Amino acid sequence: MQKLLDGIRDFHERVRPSYRERFARLALGQSPDCLFIACADSRVVPNLFASTDPGDLFVARNVGNVVPPLGSEAGVAAGAAVEFATLVLGVRDVVVCGHSACGAMRAALLGDRPADAPNLDRWLGHVEPSLRRMEREPRLDGSLDPEDRLSQAHVLQQIDHLMTYPAVAQRVAAGELTLRAWWFDLAHAQVLAHDPEAGRFRPLVELMDESAVTPPP
Ligand SMILES: [Zn+2]
Repeated sequence: MQKLLDGIRDFHERVRPSYRERFARLALGQSPDCLFIACADSRVVPNLFASTDPGDLFVARNVGNVVPPLGSEAGVAAGAAVEFATLVLGVRDVVVCGHSACGAMRAALLGDRPADAPNLDRWLGHVEPSLRRMEREPRLDGSLDPEDRLSQAHVLQQIDHLMTYPAVAQRVAAGELTLRAWWFDLAHAQVLAHDPEAGRFRPLVELMDESAVTPPP
């Protein structure tokens, strides 16, 4: 906690002056371009690896970057974020970003989880479709650890779940919304994106270089 408190002081004394004008503007409203769905993991820092500023990303985070399908009990929270971002904020992109060495994926894969954690048990049940998805994605990088391959398959599965929400499906069909499957490789501090043609995740900067006109998926 001391590090957090020191950080608050540092922000107040050193950073705040250069951000005051921006926050004064943001106090009047937000218009982010993107809903960014990520794991709650402390090492996943979207604003850092995407070099984004306050006001740029509408972020929804939970254990394991789960998007339960529409109609499931747990889908209410994810659905609220999706509906607010699409219907109220009018975002043009939704990113689901998984990451390497994800504790939620390891727990789902190996059953490695604490006793007396019934909520965590139930939540990780949402990873089960991704376990099956992993078997259906043979082109994912076979050199990855199984938990990382699961994590990548899980991102693809959450994209499918997003399409169960009418607010998403209708806008995707109308060309007003793009869904993006991303994965953060912690060890290499690198963002990968799913390349549908290759059937696997590739460094996003490579995909951007190959596609100078249209941003890659
Ligand atoms: Zn995680």
